[in-house]
Amino acid sequence: MDAPCYVPELDDTVYTKKDFLALCNNQEEIAEELFEQLDWQSPSTLFNEWEDMGEIGACEECRKILLVFSMEKCPYCGKDIAEE
Ligand SMILES: [Zn+2]
Repeated sequence: MDAPCYVPELDDTVYTKKDFLALCNNQEEIAEELFEQLDWQSPSTLFNEWEDMGEIGACEECRKILLVFSMEKCPYCGKDIAEE
């Protein structure tokens, strides 16, 4: 968990799996997706980009982070994800 798993270019920060989980509300599936999609940027930068592009959002009901582009209902509580 504490082993370094990612170092962004242009940055000396070393990220561990724990850091990824912390960014992602401790949701492993989101952390994995974030890790897979990283190219060179820092995880928090990509995470902010996702937010800006509306790719992720928090469920209004259970507050879990969801990859909203790929789903119509919250997989945790079943709430319909409304288009904004
Ligand atoms: Zn939910």
